[in-house]
Amino acid sequence: MVEASGIHKSFGRTEVLRGIDLVVQPGEVCCIIGPSGSGKSTLLRCVNHLERIDAGRMRVDGKLIGYQETGGKLHELRESEVARQRRDIGMVFQRFNLFPHMTAAENVMEAPRTVLGTSRAAARKAADELLARVGLSARRDAYPGQLSGGQQQRVAIARALAMQPRLMLFDEPTSALDPELVGEVLDVMRGLAADGMTMLVVTHEMGFAREVGDSVVFMDEGVIVEEGAPRDVLSAPRHERTRSFLSKVL
Ligand code: ATP
Ligand code: MG
Repeated sequence: MVEASGIHKSFGRTEVLRGIDLVVQPGEVCCIIGPSGSGKSTLLRCVNHLERIDAGRMRVDGKLIGYQETGGKLHELRESEVARQRRDIGMVFQRFNLFPHMTAAENVMEAPRTVLGTSRAAARKAADELLARVGLSARRDAYPGQLSGGQQQRVAIARALAMQPRLMLFDEPTSALDPELVGEVLDVMRGLAADGMTMLVVTHEMGFAREVGDSVVFMDEGVIVEEGAPRDVLSAPRHERTRSFLSKVL
């Protein structure tokens, strides 16, 4: 589903990604861990071309993201074409970024209505189903300001799902939450994984990575230091850098 090969990305003179190769199979949950500044968010943003890569290829579902290749040469796609590719890739950030002037249901309906031209009735029905799926049917008419952080993040997940993505990207979705609200968001993500969604998850929740992840990737200084089954990477890391990081977070 995701195939990153030889991804390089610099900001000015700083090379933030230094040759990333990563494959995530359909239906798999891949958890990315690593210290602050190691390039986790940048990598995630490269998957849907929110960052322009300097070298390498990013493919989702076999399709090159952000570029068209003709005769070995890459041409960047027009923004409208990139936007079309992004429809299939849902993204959830640390901050919930809901539209503050719209209710939970309206937030979930917005993209299908404006991007896909879905009828109001169909969008409402889909939103109600999605809000039920994240356990928020009762709060469908509440505004973001009236919801807890955990509830807002669950609305953000429902909103991403409304576009029926084939892949979901999560960038530390629980890091901004009070500890007692983390579980309800992880539960929704766990359900999504059980339903077979392909997920790339940057997280500091090692319990989630161990339990839900099919693979764990440890990044440091722009490279993948170690990757494998959660029990191997988290319980028996082969590299000193991984051991040192885990000793600080576990
Ligand atoms: P954290 O765990 O703190 O979220 P991260 O692993 O997600 O860290 P990134 O956000 O990918 O790290 O950042 C990697 C490096 O790239 C950092 O040194 C950061 O300062 C730098 N960086 C990220 N985005 C930009 C940008 N738009 N312009 C310049 N530098 C950037
Ligand atoms: Mg980050």
